[in-house]
Amino acid sequence: MTAAVTGAESIRWDLSSLYAAVDDPRIDGDIQRLVAFYKGFHQSFKGQLSQSLGAAITEYTRIRMIEDKILVYLYLRQSTNVADAAVKSKIAGTERMLSGASGEYMAFFNVELVAIDELTLVQLYEKDPVVARHRPWLEHARLFKLHVLSEPVESALTKRSPFGPSAWGEFFDELEADIEGVFNGEKRTLTELLHLISESKDSRQRAVLLSIVNESLAGTFAKYSAQTLYMVSGSSFVENKERLYANPMAARNKSNRISDNIVETLHRVVTDVAGPLARRYYRLKAAHLGLKPMQWSDRNAPLPFTDTTVISFADAHETIRSSFESFSPALSALAMRFFDEKRIDAPAEKGKRGGAFNFSAVLPGPVPVSYVFLNYLGSNRDVMTLAHELGHGVHGMLAGEAQGCLMSQAPIAYAETASVFAEMTTFNFLKSRLIKTGDKKSLLALIMGKIDDVINTSVRQISFSHFERRLHGFDPATNTWAPPRKLSVEELNAFWMEATRQLYGASGDIFTYENTDHLWSYISHFHHPFYVYGYALGELLTHSMYAQQPRLGKRFEPLYIDMLRSGSTRDIVALLKPFDLDPADERFWVDGVEAGLGALIAEAEQLSRDLGVVVTNGAHLLS
Ligand SMILES: [Zn+2]
Repeated sequence: MTAAVTGAESIRWDLSSLYAAVDDPRIDGDIQRLVAFYKGFHQSFKGQLSQSLGAAITEYTRIRMIEDKILVYLYLRQSTNVADAAVKSKIAGTERMLSGASGEYMAFFNVELVAIDELTLVQLYEKDPVVARHRPWLEHARLFKLHVLSEPVESALTKRSPFGPSAWGEFFDELEADIEGVFNGEKRTLTELLHLISESKDSRQRAVLLSIVNESLAGTFAKYSAQTLYMVSGSSFVENKERLYANPMAARNKSNRISDNIVETLHRVVTDVAGPLARRYYRLKAAHLGLKPMQWSDRNAPLPFTDTTVISFADAHETIRSSFESFSPALSALAMRFFDEKRIDAPAEKGKRGGAFNFSAVLPGPVPVSYVFLNYLGSNRDVMTLAHELGHGVHGMLAGEAQGCLMSQAPIAYAETASVFAEMTTFNFLKSRLIKTGDKKSLLALIMGKIDDVINTSVRQISFSHFERRLHGFDPATNTWAPPRKLSVEELNAFWMEATRQLYGASGDIFTYENTDHLWSYISHFHHPFYVYGYALGELLTHSMYAQQPRLGKRFEPLYIDMLRSGSTRDIVALLKPFDLDPADERFWVDGVEAGLGALIAEAEQLSRDLGVVVTNGAHLLS
């Protein structure tokens, strides 16, 4: 059994508008130019920011765009071939050069920026249009005033950065790309094994596949992963303490422009409201699958009547076009440019990174660019992933065009809004098409597939977050923050299983958990502390916002596009105000759970009753 031909094999991105090759002499030329610009920046602006802030911002923007051009190119090249020695060495050399020189010459900028007195800044907002335009960026940078260290320390940290935890994370990606397991006599990559688990209709086969995955992670890989997590949590503890953060999540929350309180409310609501809903849903799923209890490998299983025919890439393209068009022709046109301009790399092949991502940046010109990376194998989930990444892509293009280099990147927590929204749009388009046909089984399969996804991005990510908080020695209930310990693989396995059971129930209640203890070890998001809760936040926030469409009618689309264009210029409260929503209120998050997950589950239960499948008191009747 080999991966089916989907047409994605020939969909490769064209990076030639950036550079011709990794050894293109223009890359070194740009690095040399950058180093000269850093020096010039230091000469012109050190000690002068209060007088010439506008000019400094203009020059800083020019520098950042050139840096991004080099790094975007090398990063994208590496993603399609993680083991390529030439790319690896070029990235390492470039990072060393740039962090060395920018540590030397640029460290003063942020230190002096936060030190400008408020009155001077207010005067600059009035008389300098560049400063005025960058007011949201300046205000955000200045929120970190308390946490910026002295210039020599910041300088040393920047120079040291390529040799810290990020290097462990990079090597982790390489090791992960090498993971293989043998299934039915054939070697399979981790991406392929995970895909097969979610596509197989045979429970025994899924269990075998999961045992192969868990086994392939055990041993050296899990040990390396445990050590990487120790490097990440240890260095983050030392640095965050020096920077006077009150808890290990505070830096992330602040850069997400969200208060610690809102983040805690999110964790509480997902654990207490979404968790029980998810368990109610899995009882229904178990009834459909005729399994009690289910094994963990059955969690994302297709229903017996789910159509698992491989979807060609051309069909996926057409689905995205029509569904985006059904919400907004303007967004659909923007998304179609990714196909026309060869900005998608689609095939799943060995040597590529796992998963999918979008990378957007503003390059010299200024020109907003955006690329989509996939491992497309033709499942329904892969079509949704394409929608997801194109949602990020149109967000990146719109914000890049409207805000320029420094203010285009929405923080992770609401960067996920556009992608979740794009998935919802595609889902609702497919749903209304099925409602017209009257095919209840296919409709139910679509809805339950969507519920699986929503649970995976909300409930599961908060389960990850509980694990991660423990890893970082943080207990929000008592607000204690202990230095992280060096945890063994066995201890991490135990933390993982507890975090899983907390949201998914005791073993035997809904699931049994054999062959799941090493699954923490391949979650590379843990290398970016407290990144994962952003997914849950984006998911619930988007469901709340999506539910406003009927009320806002025609006003919704322009409000939504305006929100995408705002990039990083608004905090979460300002972002949602035009939709009359208030994320500081716990009700907002409960509504997000009920409008999304709750409504979908009620729909799935009703359709199941129509088809004769009922769940009562945990005991299920299957007819
Ligand atoms: Zn995303």
